[in-house]
Amino acid sequence: MRNQKICPALDIKAIARLKELLSDKDQQITILLHTNPDGDSAGASLGLYGYLKNDNYNRVYVISPNVLPHFLHWMPWNEEIVVSTKDCAYAEKIILDSKVVICLDFNGFSRVNRLASALSKSSGTKVLIDHHPDPSSEFDLVFSETNTSSASELLYNVLTALGCESKITLPIAECIYTGIVTDTGSFSYGCNYPDSYIVTSKLIALGVDGEKIQRLIYNTSTLSRMRLLGYSISQKLEVLAPGTAAYISLTQAELRQFEHQPGDTEGFVNYALKINGVKLAAIFIEKSDHVKVSFRSTGDVDVNLFARQYFNGGGHKNASGGKSSECLDAAVNSFKNLANPFISKYL
Ligand code: 5GP
Ligand code: MN
Repeated sequence: MRNQKICPALDIKAIARLKELLSDKDQQITILLHTNPDGDSAGASLGLYGYLKNDNYNRVYVISPNVLPHFLHWMPWNEEIVVSTKDCAYAEKIILDSKVVICLDFNGFSRVNRLASALSKSSGTKVLIDHHPDPSSEFDLVFSETNTSSASELLYNVLTALGCESKITLPIAECIYTGIVTDTGSFSYGCNYPDSYIVTSKLIALGVDGEKIQRLIYNTSTLSRMRLLGYSISQKLEVLAPGTAAYISLTQAELRQFEHQPGDTEGFVNYALKINGVKLAAIFIEKSDHVKVSFRSTGDVDVNLFARQYFNGGGHKNASGGKSSECLDAAVNSFKNLANPFISKYL
C-alpha cells in the first residue's frame, strides 16, 4: 500500500519563519515566475498573489520574465503580471525594493534570465517554494519537496500549514488546480502521490470546475497551432535506431509558416514519447539567438541529468529543458550522438 507521504518541506521552524516574514502587510513583496512560464509556475504564483491581495497585503507584485502562453491568459490576475520583456527596468526596480521575494517552481536564480542579477542584488529575503531536485543555495528560506505533483500543490500545503486554508477562495483554487493539472499532464505522470488527489479533491470541493479548466488549457488551440502539431508529427518526428530515442526539430521559418505564438509548441515533445519503446524524447526549437530544447523520458532515464550535462539546463527526472548556443542542426547532431549512449546506462 502506498503511504500517505509526510512533507518534510513543511518543517515547523520554516513555517514559523515564513509567518514572521509575512507579518508586515505594508512591506513590498514580489512573487516571481520562471522564464517561459508554464501552468505550474503561473498557478502557484498567481494563487499566492491572489491570496496575499485578498488578505490585504498592500504592496504585492507578481513578475514574470516573459509573457504567459496564450492558453493561460484566462487565469485570474493574469493582467496584473509585470512582464520583464516589456519593461525590464521596472521589474528590476520592484525586485530591488522588495523586502521579501517569493520564487515559485524553479530552483536557481539562472531560471529568471535577465532578472537574475536584480534578484542577487536585492537585500530582500528570498523564499523558495518548489518541487525540483537540488535547490541552489541562493535562497534564504527553502520549501522544497520533490515528491509532490507540482509547486502549486506544495503552495496549497504551505498555506494550510500557515493556518490559512480557509482563506483559499475559488480563483486561488483555480490557479492551484491549473498547476497540478498541467504539471501532471492531466494526471498522467508525476502524480502517484495520495496527497495530490487529496489536495485536488479539496480544490474541487471549493467549486473548481475541472472540465472547464481542462477546456481552457487544452482545447483553445488555433487552427495554425493544430496544423503545426500535425506537421511536426508527420514531417519532423524522427526515431533514432534502435528505437529508444525520438526527436522533433523546428526552424524559425517553419514556426513562422504556422504563425507561431508563444506556447504553441508546448506539449509537442510528449507525442514523441508516445511511440512504443521510446524512453527519451526531445524537441528542438530554433530561437533568434539560441536553440530551446525540451526533454521527456519514462522510468529511470534521468533527463534532468541529461539536460544538466549536455544542454545547460535541468528540471525533473522525467521532464527537463535546456538550451544550446550551437545552430539547430549542430544541436540536433549532438543529441543524436549522445542519446543512445546515455539511455544504455539505464537498460
Ligand atoms: P519545458 O521543457 O516544458 O520547458 O520544461 C520542463 C521542465 O524543465 C520544467 O520543470 C522546467 O522548469 C525545466 N526547464 C526547462 N528549461 C530549463 C532550463 O533552461 N534550465 C533549467 N534548469 N530547467 C529548465
Ligand atoms: Mn512545476
